[in-house]
Amino acid sequence: MKTFCGRANPTTGAMEWLEEDENYDYHQEIARSRYADMLHDKDRNVKYYQGIRAAVSRVKERGEKAVVLDIGTGTGLLSMMAASAGADFCYAIEVFKPMANAAVKIVEKNGFRDKIKVINKHSTAVTVGPDGDMQCRANILVTELFDTELIGEGALPTYEHAHKYLVQEGCEAVPHRATVYVQLVESKRMWSWNKLFPVHVEAEDGEKIIVSPSEMENCPGVPSVCDIQLNQMPSSDFTVLSDVVTVFSVDFSKPVRSASTSCRVQLEPVKSGKAQIVLSWWDIDMDPSGMINCTMAPYWVKSTSAFQWRDHWMQCVYFLPNEEPVLKGEKVYLTACRDEYSLWYKLQKARGEEENKADVCVESPVCWCQAHLLWNRPRFGELNDQNRTRQYIKSLMKVLKTDSICLCISDGSLLPVLAHYLGAKRFFKANHLEDKIKIIETRPELLMSSHLEDKKISVLVGEPFFTTSLLPWHNLYFWYARTAVTSHLASNVAVLPQSAALHMMIVEFQDLWRIRSPCGTCEGFDVQTLDDMIKNSMNFRESREAEPHPLWEYPCKSLSDPQEVLRFDFRETVPEHSLSTEGSVNLLRKGKSHGAVLWMEYHLVADISISTGLMQISNEKGNCEWNPHCKQAVYFFSSVIESEALSDLHSAVTYAINFNTKTGEIAMDFKL
Ligand code: SAH
Repeated sequence: MKTFCGRANPTTGAMEWLEEDENYDYHQEIARSRYADMLHDKDRNVKYYQGIRAAVSRVKERGEKAVVLDIGTGTGLLSMMAASAGADFCYAIEVFKPMANAAVKIVEKNGFRDKIKVINKHSTAVTVGPDGDMQCRANILVTELFDTELIGEGALPTYEHAHKYLVQEGCEAVPHRATVYVQLVESKRMWSWNKLFPVHVEAEDGEKIIVSPSEMENCPGVPSVCDIQLNQMPSSDFTVLSDVVTVFSVDFSKPVRSASTSCRVQLEPVKSGKAQIVLSWWDIDMDPSGMINCTMAPYWVKSTSAFQWRDHWMQCVYFLPNEEPVLKGEKVYLTACRDEYSLWYKLQKARGEEENKADVCVESPVCWCQAHLLWNRPRFGELNDQNRTRQYIKSLMKVLKTDSICLCISDGSLLPVLAHYLGAKRFFKANHLEDKIKIIETRPELLMSSHLEDKKISVLVGEPFFTTSLLPWHNLYFWYARTAVTSHLASNVAVLPQSAALHMMIVEFQDLWRIRSPCGTCEGFDVQTLDDMIKNSMNFRESREAEPHPLWEYPCKSLSDPQEVLRFDFRETVPEHSLSTEGSVNLLRKGKSHGAVLWMEYHLVADISISTGLMQISNEKGNCEWNPHCKQAVYFFSSVIESEALSDLHSAVTYAINFNTKTGEIAMDFKL
């Protein structure tokens, strides 16, 4: 059977019908999965193994048979650890079919066929009894069902069910316990991901300040967690206001309740400041004594020797509904609330003792101003970037005249407001704002002269930014929209940005390479089947794809100079033919070529450009500084070359890049 799915092409904007291959989603999921990253997480693996060995020993010491339930077995790794540690039998549950199939193969290859039964079900569908999936209840419960927020992948309901139906009372659990920690901080940088700061516009008749409406000011934002590599946040970007405190602890060896709950912790500010952000992370104790601990604590909390890079578990940033001034030594109360899958926080000043003891449950935050639904966190950060705004203002001033008729094509853009404050008379926009700015609710190709009051557009602007963009070149939609509205443009129209350029650079990643690199063996177990499966999925449809990553979170060093590879002239319409280029870049530094990074630079006007990628190469080692608001495209090479000696410096990477103007797709090929 063939299924066709409709979607709007992110680059061309065209509605298109894609033949949905039922395997396509599987392959995407496997190719982009975190399994490899987990298997590269040595710290996690070693500690699980220690915890599992200890649990099996405790059961054996009691003279019992060790029957293990491994929920979410993935590759079967934790079950194989248990079997090696002497467990009598393991039930390995995996809901994701391709992984369950892989687990069967891996278990067999490693010689555990008699000890491990892989069950391709959701744990809540597993049955126990003589005719059931499991012969009897297990006495060791092993899982790894945690995400950065701990409970976001449904660990709590899964545990709740398992204790009721699948394991014995008094069972051993690995991990034994999880603890969630918080720390209160002030951070202009992080707060800028949640609130729109006043925008300063230097107009000819003096400075004007654009402030956000009060409904936006007071909006609590969206509840979804903001998970980041907090270890990449320099300490100069935030001020610690409290010590680290525990908010929740879950004992996985006892019945678990998943129902919503809240608790309140007392904090004594160590510094006066504005409480804006709650930083949070967790740790897991693999055994009851707490001797085998695996922690996500950031660099300023734990010693660097304990550091393990990982991307499958990071740290959380929670935004308080409003900023609250706190005074050093004056106690405040933080209410932590959770439902089955997520957490959120609220700060209260200390009042009467009674009230402080009360268990106050606050509602999960809901955005009422719409802005948090339109703009994601990096987009808020981008709009709050005064430096960037200044570049747009300077550029707008160069193209705007008092009688300009402007059209803006961008999602949720402030350009019309800026242009208005800079004196543009009329502004049309394919979205918000009233009076001087008219919002046209139509697609570019359906724009009619009547929408524009029969006027011709003299200035066409865009950031460009579109919420549908994932990869840098998806914002070329601006070019397609510009092409669609051509008949409405005056002959001497000014287009801002006037062009865009795709840039490329070869890099060595400090850590990100792990997420796409084969594992071979993991703690002595052969997991190559997974490597093969991932490789097969990456080559599905014979096209390796670039993937978006916010590189400020993933340090890398440049091995080549950055190079412009393609240019897109927005003053002209999109050409019929493809744009392609071939060339080579020299490798300038020693290192491993893990892949190429690609990003866009927009030439707003002749001499003003903004980069959505590389900001600068900060030292002779080639360390890179990236635009903190944008994701860059990363194309991982299928094999890594290492240039060891400077004599290799003549080595070059050749590339062929093709932009298909019909499909809006960029295909690339690199030869090392
Ligand atoms: N245990 C493996 C894999 C962990 S990833 C390891 O430690 O390396 C978590 C896996 O659990 C995923 O493959 C996911 O599909 C599966 N999973 C999550 N919840 C589940 C549930 N309730 N029942 C069965 N599988 C589940």
